[in-house]
Amino acid sequence: MIIKSASFITSSALVKQCPPPDKPEYAFIGRSNVGKSSLINMLTGRKGLAKISGTPGKTQTLNHFLINESWYLVDLPGYGYARVSQKMREQWNRLITEYVTRRENLVLLFVLIDARHEPIASDLDFMEKIALKGIPFARVFTKSDKAGKKETEKNISIHNKTMLERWESLPPTFITSATKGLGKDEILDYISETMIFFKRDN
Ligand code: GDP
Repeated sequence: MIIKSASFITSSALVKQCPPPDKPEYAFIGRSNVGKSSLINMLTGRKGLAKISGTPGKTQTLNHFLINESWYLVDLPGYGYARVSQKMREQWNRLITEYVTRRENLVLLFVLIDARHEPIASDLDFMEKIALKGIPFARVFTKSDKAGKKETEKNISIHNKTMLERWESLPPTFITSATKGLGKDEILDYISETMIFFKRDN
């Protein structure tokens, strides 16, 4: 897929404030600092589209971008800030749970994981939670240029092994580098291929 246009539509603090669910939607989520904004900017080829990480304590919003006038890319608030209050964590949980269960045009969620890290409980718990709700998702290992080929492969194989202790199969997996543009075509092609799962009757 070639990105011809990408524009910011709206920030929503509640799911009911999101744009009408009339187009296929793909959302991106991950721990803070995982490289989510950089990945969104790399995929869309628009440097300043997603802002580089918001500070903890800020209002948590769902940010919609319209791509090629035909689908939505959504930047979801990150998780795993070390210093946020219990209240903020609960708010995040409520918002994300509502978003993934209620947003009927959501085709797929990309769960971002730093390629330099071995599995972290919060990532595994999050994937398990969305899988149990029947939400299709894919893993995206970010910052692979920083990790290097060997470390990326080693970490992914540990991730796979850990997941397969509890899962029957592995989700689709992408390796990216925002600085090198790695994984861009693969992710955009995957988005094109999965758009058929968008239900027109929404
Ligand atoms: P977010 O909080 O998940 O949106 O993360 P950001 O996109 O703001 O990235 C966090 C930091 O990691 C920034 O300093 C980025 O420049 C850096 N970063 C993000 N992606 C990559 C990548 O693929 N390669 C390298 N080398 N640095 C990256």
